[in-house]
Amino acid sequence: MRKPDKVLPGDRIAISEEFLPGKHTYPDDAGLIRALAVGGVQKDMANMEISVAPSVEASMVREGDWVTGQVEVAQSNSVGIKMYYVNGERMDKDFAGTLSLRGFGGGRGARRGPPVKLGDIVRCRVFSLVNGIIHLSIDEDDMGVVSCLCGNCGRPLLKGGRERAKCDECGNVEDRKLAADFGRSPIRP
Ligand SMILES: [Zn+2]
Repeated sequence: MRKPDKVLPGDRIAISEEFLPGKHTYPDDAGLIRALAVGGVQKDMANMEISVAPSVEASMVREGDWVTGQVEVAQSNSVGIKMYYVNGERMDKDFAGTLSLRGFGGGRGARRGPPVKLGDIVRCRVFSLVNGIIHLSIDEDDMGVVSCLCGNCGRPLLKGGRERAKCDECGNVEDRKLAADFGRSPIRP
């Protein structure tokens, strides 16, 4: 999934004897130069400087944008979302963002289970780009799951309540953080 030339924050990219740390890098105590951002490694041989060009380009995704994508990795406290649209426009590059699930579950009208699941189509707000990671949020009414499939029979789920999706086919009911327009079609990207 990760391209070979792509590094993540903390990855070692050189030893200090070979290169000087350039943009979006830092030297560690062990004499290594590590990446501070997600991106591609760039070597400036004239100055013997190594740097990371962040893969989040300011022109592609900015704080405050809304994006629509699909949950491709689900962990207990965060999910990875592969983004297909930004502000309703198709993206021509692959970008993934992270949605933290902390703060969901429990509380009033407690939802059982996670607010989003693997394979769901989700609309999110970009709330920060710290360390080259696209941090997403689904707190707003318009944000959340816009389309998902029944975990039981695989049919599209319909709206069954404010935070509940139901399957007309098999009667299965699943809890989600639904976007206000969930279940309408066509899906607003
Ligand atoms: Zn079903």
